[in-house]
Amino acid sequence: MSTAPTSQQTQRKLYIESYGCAMNFSDSEIIASIMNEHGFVNTNDELDADVIFLNTCAIRDNAEQRIRERLKHLRNNKKSNNDLIIGVLGCMAERLKSKLLEEEKLVDVVAGPDSYRELPKLVAEVDEGGRAINVLLSREETYGDLNPVRLNSNGISAFVSIMRGCDNMCSFCVVPFTRGRERSRDPQSIINEVLELQKQGFKEITLLGQNVNSYLWFGGGPKKEFKSLTPEEQASSVDFADLLELVANAVPLMRIRYSTSHPRDITEKVVLTMAKHNNICNYIHLPAQSGNTRVLEAMSRNYSREWYMDKITMIKNIIPDCGISCDIIAGFCTETEEEHQDTLSLIQWCEFDFSYMYKYSERPNTPAAKKFTDDVPEDIKSRRLQEIIAVQHKMSQEKNARYIGKTVKVLIEGNSKKSDNDWVGRNDQNVVVVFPKETYQKGDLVEVLIERSTTTSIIGKAIGMTEL
Ligand code: SAM
Ligand code: SF4
Repeated sequence: MSTAPTSQQTQRKLYIESYGCAMNFSDSEIIASIMNEHGFVNTNDELDADVIFLNTCAIRDNAEQRIRERLKHLRNNKKSNNDLIIGVLGCMAERLKSKLLEEEKLVDVVAGPDSYRELPKLVAEVDEGGRAINVLLSREETYGDLNPVRLNSNGISAFVSIMRGCDNMCSFCVVPFTRGRERSRDPQSIINEVLELQKQGFKEITLLGQNVNSYLWFGGGPKKEFKSLTPEEQASSVDFADLLELVANAVPLMRIRYSTSHPRDITEKVVLTMAKHNNICNYIHLPAQSGNTRVLEAMSRNYSREWYMDKITMIKNIIPDCGISCDIIAGFCTETEEEHQDTLSLIQWCEFDFSYMYKYSERPNTPAAKKFTDDVPEDIKSRRLQEIIAVQHKMSQEKNARYIGKTVKVLIEGNSKKSDNDWVGRNDQNVVVVFPKETYQKGDLVEVLIERSTTTSIIGKAIGMTEL
């Protein structure tokens, strides 16, 4: 239930800045919804804001350093507006808890990912002259009943969060500590949100979670409690393939994407569901992290190189033209030169369309930090990362060149960054496509004949409107 805004709150302006993964950008839309319900209005101008929230990421050290730098700059905002309230939300807030208030005197509010409903109350505490913190993690919270307010939206594609938290405990990863136990959102509330997006004119949704293939609805609560249900209760649960099917049928004219998949959990049932529905895009983001089985074991990823390759084969057997992308970590603890070579060869074997590639960054208190020494020297990590990037770029170039002379279906998302005369969108496989606008409009689904390619995009000419 919303609390009636006071006359003072009605005027107050909120500026939210999001960092990190899509999940955080999606959370900011939940935060805006909660704050708007309590009388705050959104602004895109930080200098005009009464409240500034930084929705932060903690996945690598440099993500946190970026926030520290940003806070230094915000000192000026506070100097020119004494009443300005600054909040640090999200994963960095959850990781550092009250330490953040001790270390960053500028910060008034610290709130973790499960305490966003408390934000108006936390701001009110600051109004009373204090500083406020809530970093409690929840077993049930999914914010499923809220109507996210679309921020910085292109009006065409939107994120829909389907689950929260992660139970996987990959040894390098801070997420299970910052986002808590895995829990899934009621499928009916997901469908309602998707139908609402369709009504607002959106054409594409991305279902979001840290490990969407692990989605399981059985009435709510932590996933680990599924085991204690009766066989009948278990049989009536909704898994990710069921959810995909429900969403695909609910909005047959919308494009559906999802992210992220864990290789351990992606099933044939999910891929067959994708193949069955024209409106589910043929694209899977399937982070491998490493191409070497011993390193994968040290990472606690629970699959081997061969298991991963078998999953790629399974996907390509069912959907031969499926786009596949990857996340790779260079220089994880104890990684040898030969093991690094296995990562390079995996990229080539899998022919990833693109990858997000990172140097390993040790995160305090994670299993890897406790168990291993971060023993790959920085210069070697950097060199390995450069080699990974070079192989992936060559692969992306080759894959994009294969589109030349072919037609692809593109949903127009907006102006191309380089020219207002061109549209930009993505094809089914999530490759960026650029082409002259002519008479086409944002939101149109068009057939584009590809004439040229680069490492990051394919370029062509529209030849007509098309259907999913
Ligand atoms: N849940 C997703 C998964 O398992 O693939 C991804 C979660 S994480 C937000 C995104 C990516 O960050 C991971 O896939 C991994 O490649 C990278 N990452 C996570 N922890 C890292 C660390 N300590 N150092 C470097 N990269 C890291
Ligand atoms: Fe982190 Fe692993 Fe969970 Fe992804 S699956 S969020 S990498 S613990």
